[in-house]
Amino acid sequence: MSKCAIPFNQPYLTGNEIAYIQQALKEKHLKGNGYFTHQCQKLLSQLFNKNDVLLTHSCTAALEMAALLANIQPGDEVIMPSYTFVSTANAFVLRGATPVFVDIRPDTLNIDESKIEAAITDRTKAIVPVHYAGVSCDMDSIMATAQEFNLIVIEDAAQAIMSSAAGSPVGTRGDLAAVSFHETKNIQCGEGGALIINNQKFLERAEIIREKGTNRKQFIQRKVDKYTWCDVGSSYIPSDLNAAFLLAQLENAQHITNKRLKIWSQYNELLSPYASVIPIECQHNAHMFYMLLQSPIQRDAYIRFMQRHNVSCSFHYTPLHQSHMAKGYLLPSSELKYTEKMSNNIVRLPLWPGMTEEMVSFVAEVTLKFFDANYAI
Ligand SMILES: *Cc1c(COP(=O)(O)O)cnc(C)c1O
Repeated sequence: MSKCAIPFNQPYLTGNEIAYIQQALKEKHLKGNGYFTHQCQKLLSQLFNKNDVLLTHSCTAALEMAALLANIQPGDEVIMPSYTFVSTANAFVLRGATPVFVDIRPDTLNIDESKIEAAITDRTKAIVPVHYAGVSCDMDSIMATAQEFNLIVIEDAAQAIMSSAAGSPVGTRGDLAAVSFHETKNIQCGEGGALIINNQKFLERAEIIREKGTNRKQFIQRKVDKYTWCDVGSSYIPSDLNAAFLLAQLENAQHITNKRLKIWSQYNELLSPYASVIPIECQHNAHMFYMLLQSPIQRDAYIRFMQRHNVSCSFHYTPLHQSHMAKGYLLPSSELKYTEKMSNNIVRLPLWPGMTEEMVSFVAEVTLKFFDANYAI
């Protein structure tokens, strides 16, 4: 196979990462909760309406913390889309809960808020909206349903840092939200994440859960004279080395987002008949540029065609209800028509901050060539 001239993703470096890591080495504070962790949390708190933010070693970890904080028990049901990453479900399956899958909307590929109520039973504990491609779910509707049925809302905002809806940063509406700093996300440190605590009542316990179930935080603050085991918990704190890398990225979050938005807009212009729908109230973060083709056959032909022109494109999630893990055990709440259709037809185009205008034009040009050549079935 020929080497791709335009890879699907390439992690962006701001230039300050090494200097900050060197500073962390000099301070001889490599474990978690050091200077850089606190600086990251401070910046993140500013981005998320001054709410409390705890850095974690992944978004997966933040979701697991959220499941513990929500007190999810065996037999509980948790409503989420099937069209998502495995961690959305795993965090709750680990606590013995059953994910209940609701179909997505064909326009945004986010959970269809109008179908949530029908999936609620007396075992339902939480709703987990996933903000796909950094475009906000309809949180007004979801929060209203949650309030009516007394459910916790945990936002999977893994892809949504720097996005907003009707002026509110995405990740500030639910009780809790989880973001990702995985290498493939907009702001990254290899592996990393954060838990956004919008409902203050979860803060104290969240600190304990993140510190292996101990009150170490209070010990460091000299509020207690020794620290002990006081709750369930695990090791969810990232090293300060990772936080040092992340701080360089967070300080440039707007710059990175602007670069991505510029590329997204160029695609949007050149490929307008195929571009995705962004609801008018949503300011997205250009996490992804995707197109929905006519069939999986056409989609796969497109990916091969692009590959022949040295452009790497990619499909996305296999719906969780069709996964090996879910077979015979997880039942969708109803037919998941759009989940299946969209996952069959979606293709994602290369989008990373180092892409030049020429690269984006080239990808669009080859794409149009594919559609022109009677490939559009
Ligand atoms: C990336 C992603 C995750 C997992 O993030 P990690 O930081 O790799 O644990 C979870 N949910 C969604 C929707 C994601 O895109």
